[in-house]
Formats: sequence, C-alpha cells, structure tokens
Amino acid sequence: MKADIVTIFPDFFRGPLEYGITRRAQEMGLAEIKVHDLREFTHDRHRTVDDRPFGGGEGMVLKPEPLFECLESMGVAPREERLAGRVKQSVVLLSAQGQRLTQKVAAELAVLDRIVLVCGRYEGVDERVADFLADRELSIGDYVLSGGELGAAVIVEAVMRLLPGALGNEASSRQESFTVDARTIDARLKISDGADSTCGSNGLLDYPHYTRPAEFRGIAVPEALMSGNHEEIRKWRRQQALEKTWRNRPDLLEGAALSEEDRKFLIGIRRDGTR
Ligand code: SAM
Repeated sequence: MKADIVTIFPDFFRGPLEYGITRRAQEMGLAEIKVHDLREFTHDRHRTVDDRPFGGGEGMVLKPEPLFECLESMGVAPREERLAGRVKQSVVLLSAQGQRLTQKVAAELAVLDRIVLVCGRYEGVDERVADFLADRELSIGDYVLSGGELGAAVIVEAVMRLLPGALGNEASSRQESFTVDARTIDARLKISDGADSTCGSNGLLDYPHYTRPAEFRGIAVPEALMSGNHEEIRKWRRQQALEKTWRNRPDLLEGAALSEEDRKFLIGIRRDGTR
C-alpha cells in the first residue's frame, strides 16, 4: 500500500512513522509512506498556504491551489475513477466535521492500494477541497485539534496494522476490540482451534489481558486463566469482554453479534450490576 500525507509540518511525522508496526510495514515492503510539504506547492516568496476567510470571521483558511497542485503532482487517479471504485485509491481530508474513524473504516482503507491523507490547519480548509479533491472527510473523534497531523498518524497506524503480514500474528488483529471477523463467527459454531480463537471481539471491546507474575503485590491473575481449560478460558474472556463493553461502551452492544449464552449473561449483569 502507498500512503501519502500532505501537511505544512512534514517533520511532525518523523516520530510516528519510525516506530513499531508502521516502521515494520515499511521495512517489509508492505507500505510506502511519503510525506509531502504543502509549502513546496506555493509560488510566492513567503510560501503562503493560507488566506483570510470570505465573509469575515476569525482565523485563516488553507488555500485550495497548493493542495490541488500537490495532489496533481503525485499522480493520484482522477476523483471520478476513485469514486466509481475503478481504482483502489482514496483521498481523505482530515476534518472535525468528517465521518468518524472506526475500525470498520480503517479496514475499508486497508484494502486499498493507495491512500492520501490531507491535513488541515488554522480554521480549516477551503471547502472546495472537500467537495472536489477529497473522496471523504474523516474525523478521529468528537473534539477539535489544531491540525490534521495527529489524525493522519492515527489513520496510518490503524491501517498499517491491518495489512496482511504487518503484525506477524494475524490472529491478534482478529481478536481485537471492535473487530468483526468471519472466523470468530465460525468459532461460535465450534469450528475453532483453541481457547484464543473462540473469543474474538465480534464488535465488542477486547477482553482483559494478564502476564507474569501470576501474583503482583498481592493481586492475583484471575483463576480461570490459570486453569488451562480452553472452554473455561473462552467463557471467562467472552464474559469479561461483554461486561467491559456494557460498562464502557454500551452502544457497541447494539450492533454486536451475540449468542444466546451472551444474551443470558448480559441479562444477568443488567439485573445484578457489575459481576
Ligand atoms: N473550524 C473547524 C471546525 O470547527 O470544525 C476546526 C478546524 S481545526 C482547528 C484545524 C484542522 O485540524 C482541521 O482542518 C482538520 O484537518 C484538523 N482536525 C481538527 N479536529 C479534528 C478531528 N477531530 N479529526 C480529524 N482532524 C481534525
């Protein structure tokens, strides 16, 4: 996959792109990430990328010309081709007004050949960029940041770890929070291969994880995990995921794939409170 980031602060990405899975994905040749300095697409002495808003008001707005020129220089496929799905490319404008980034959106981006992430700044970006240059606007959450750079780094990381081979162990991304995967549904039907694969999150939050020592400052690891009994471990993990989701993100229960066993457990916690 190719990922292009357009920003007025290219150095911002020195850290985020050089660690962990994002770095590994690049080293393994799974991803090629390029950062483009928007100011290189200006034509005045001051390398101006912003201007005052029409209609008055506070702040400055990112001008459209450098952004259009920058994307034209990259050889990105025409917008009509992208929107029609004839090429697997997407141009994303980071915006607080965008559709919220979710694991599902990250998965949609991860199957593309190329993503371009356009970082806004100041009061935002001339709306012609959203209307005629970008394919979609994405927000990383309901709060306002000063620029799109953190959002672009978040998208890159969320997408890179979904590229086949990037994690090393594909099972770990299947089981994570929010992830709905066909294999976890198979696992419910008992086509499973051990405790781990039977408790994929299926749209819920992940279950809690523990490692050595078994006892730390008098706090013991839950007994079920020490039992060696796959079925007991599966059940415990699933119930913990259900309880945590119910407590922290009850909205996710609406869309989650729940078994009869899950529903009974949820009725129990709704009645008795936290178990
Ligand atoms: N005036 C805009 C509004 O109220 O929606 C906020 C502009 S913000 C100060 C400047 C830039 O930061 C935006 O153009 C966008 O690129 C980025 N940004 C801010 N919040 C964001 C969010 N939640 N998700 C993604 N990008 C965000």
